[in-house]
Amino acid sequence: MNRSYDAIVVGAGPAAWSASIFLVRAGMSVLVVGVDNESGLADASDVRNFPGFPDGISGRTLLDNMIAQAKNQGVVYEKQEVTHTEEINGNFLTKTANLDEFTAKNLVLAHGANYIKANLPGEKEYSGKGVHYCALCDGPIYKGKSIVVLGNSNLAAEEAIELSAYVKDVRIISHSPAVNFSEGYKNILDSKHVSAVTVRIKEIKGDGAKANSVITETGETINFDALFIALGVASSLDFARQLGLEVAGDFIKVDVNMRTSNEKVWAVGMARGGVNQIVKSVGDGAIGAVSIIKTSKGLPNYIDHT
Ligand SMILES: Cc1cc2nc3c(=O)[nH]c(=O)nc-3n(C[C@H](O)[C@H](O)[C@H](O)COP(=O)(O)OP(=O)(O)OC[C@H]3O[C@@H](n4cnc5c(N)ncnc54)[C@H](O)[C@@H]3O)c2cc1C
Repeated sequence: MNRSYDAIVVGAGPAAWSASIFLVRAGMSVLVVGVDNESGLADASDVRNFPGFPDGISGRTLLDNMIAQAKNQGVVYEKQEVTHTEEINGNFLTKTANLDEFTAKNLVLAHGANYIKANLPGEKEYSGKGVHYCALCDGPIYKGKSIVVLGNSNLAAEEAIELSAYVKDVRIISHSPAVNFSEGYKNILDSKHVSAVTVRIKEIKGDGAKANSVITETGETINFDALFIALGVASSLDFARQLGLEVAGDFIKVDVNMRTSNEKVWAVGMARGGVNQIVKSVGDGAIGAVSIIKTSKGLPNYIDHT
């Protein structure tokens, strides 16, 4: 097994595969270390906003295609979790849960971020089946339907406003604490007749195939066609801490080339925050990879003529 690479990419989601494809095509040896099943894309049942698929595509199939495309061009994939990263004499040592160790001259952090879960009974069972986390991704499925948004911050207000453009009605419920929208959002919500109540939820119920209601702690049933959970997105900052990288809130701080505060470490996709969409993570991967190629080879401009 080769232990030393030009670049190691941590993560196995769209940002990682995009970066790895660009890097390997530029002649670099590339190792991707991650667990593709844990990418958000693996859970996306029907992707309709990634260009190139007129009838949509399942996230799992799209991810499998990305993996095959990368491997076909020479990317090495180690399907395992990274536990530790460290810079030693200008090289990056990467340790895995299986106790493997790899080194590389360049490190790409593409470890993504996770939607914050409400941790309610029924949430996991109905995820993608009436329980959703992203209005931009899944909202249009529910044109003309009744929607409940769960959350108490401006993010919940944004999701409700987005949905209100095409659904029949939207209600915001705040599990706890009370809703806390800024004045601007309150005005827009009022103008769109979106109500907001604070109520503790006990569980999400459904018919086995799809979620259709929540039960409150006082025993009330709130029916819906879909529940959008809008509690935010958070990235693990473990690697940023291990490498001493600058962070911005819950994400790794990068410049326009996806370069972190360490000039040999890049962060792409949801690891660096921003819009939580496949197309953006793929774009980040390409930008970061081009920056690595330019830096490593001293090219003024990178053009892929292959
Ligand atoms: C249910 C659902 C539906 C969605 N629908 C859509 C949609 O229709 N359209 C759209 O554009 N977006 C959609 N999204 C969002 C989309 O999936 C994300 O924007 C995208 O996957 C982010 O890509 P990423 O590569 O940045 O991170 P991720 O896809 O989250 O990948 C991160 C990777 O890093 C790995 N990783 C994390 N920690 C470690 C570690 N310690 N060691 C090794 N690897 C690690 C993970 O295993 C994973 O493979 C959806 C998301 C979900 C959950």
